[in-house]
Amino acid sequence: MKNIILRISFIFILSFLVLSCNHKNEDVNKPEYVIVIHGGAGNASNRDINEEQQAEYKEKLSEAIHIGETILKNGGTCTEAVEKTINFLEDCPLFNAGKGAVFTNDGHNELDASIMQGSDLTAGAVAGVRDVKNPISAALKVMLNSEHVLLSGKGASKFASEQGLNIVDSSYFFTEDRWNSLQNILKVDKHGTVGCVVLDKYGNLAAGTSTGGMTNKKYGRIGDSPIIGAGTYANNKTCAVSATGHGEFFIRYTVAHDISALMEYKNLSLSEASDLVINKKLVEAGGVGGCIAVDKNGNVSMPFNSNMMFRAYVKSTGEKAVAIFK
Ligand code: ASP
Repeated sequence: MKNIILRISFIFILSFLVLSCNHKNEDVNKPEYVIVIHGGAGNASNRDINEEQQAEYKEKLSEAIHIGETILKNGGTCTEAVEKTINFLEDCPLFNAGKGAVFTNDGHNELDASIMQGSDLTAGAVAGVRDVKNPISAALKVMLNSEHVLLSGKGASKFASEQGLNIVDSSYFFTEDRWNSLQNILKVDKHGTVGCVVLDKYGNLAAGTSTGGMTNKKYGRIGDSPIIGAGTYANNKTCAVSATGHGEFFIRYTVAHDISALMEYKNLSLSEASDLVINKKLVEAGGVGGCIAVDKNGNVSMPFNSNMMFRAYVKSTGEKAVAIFK
C-alpha cells in the first residue's frame, strides 16, 4: 500500500514538473510585443519595380515599423501603435493610402480605413472620404468617440472635422504617379493599401487598414478595407488581421474574420488558418491578394497569392524581416 502511494506521488510530482516546465517555455518564447505591417499586394514583377524603387519601399517600411516598435517598447498600446504606424504610411506618397491614394474613375480620391481592438471587439471605420488627411485617425475617433462603427462620405468628414482632425483640400491627394495610373489603367498599378497588426505588452491585439481603394473605381465603390471582418479584424481570443487585394473577394469571403473563426472554432494555428483562406479559398475563387496576421502568442503570418506583397515585421525578441517578393 505504502509503495503504491509512493509511486502515485512520484508520478504526480513528475507530471507537475513537466507541465510547469512547458508552461515556462511557452512564456519564454512568447515575445513581449510584435508589430507587422503591409504596404499592399499585387501582381507587379521584379521588372515593374526596379532595384532602386525596391530599396526605397523597404526603407519606408522599416521607418514605419520603427515608429510602431518605439511606441510598443515604451509601453504604448496596440491601438496607438497601429494608428501612428499607419499615419506614417498614409503620409508617404509611395503607398495607396492618404497622400498616395489612387484616383476614382471620375478623377477624385476616395479613402477608406478601419481599426479594431481585440480586447473588447470595438471598431471604427470611415469610407469614401475625400478630404481627411489621415483616415485611420478618423476611424479611431469613430471607435472611441461615437456610438457607430462605420461612417461614410461627407458625414464622416464632418465628424472628423468636429473631432479636430486635419481636413485638407482635395488637391493634397494629387500625385503624378497615381494620375498616370488612371490615364493608363492597363499599366500594372502598384497597389499599396497599408495595414498594421500588433500584439502589445499587455497581451492585447489590434488591427488597422487604410486605402485609396482600387484605381478607376466607380459609383462610390467601397472595398473591404473599411469593412470589419473583411479587410480588418482583431480578437484577443485568436488573432489580428489586415488584408490587401481585390476587395470584392475579401468582402464575399469575410477573409479577416474567417481566419479568426478557423482558429476559434476549428483550433487551427494562425499559419494554417491564414494559409487556408488566402492560398486555397481565395485562389479557388479567383481573389488576388494577401494579409498580415499576428496571434495572441506572437506568431506572425504573412501569406499572399499574388506576385508580391510589401511587408515587414519586428518582434521584441529581435526577430525581424522586410520583404517584397516571395
Ligand atoms: N483591398 C483594397 C480594396 O479593394 C485594395 C488593395 O488592397 O489593393 O479597396
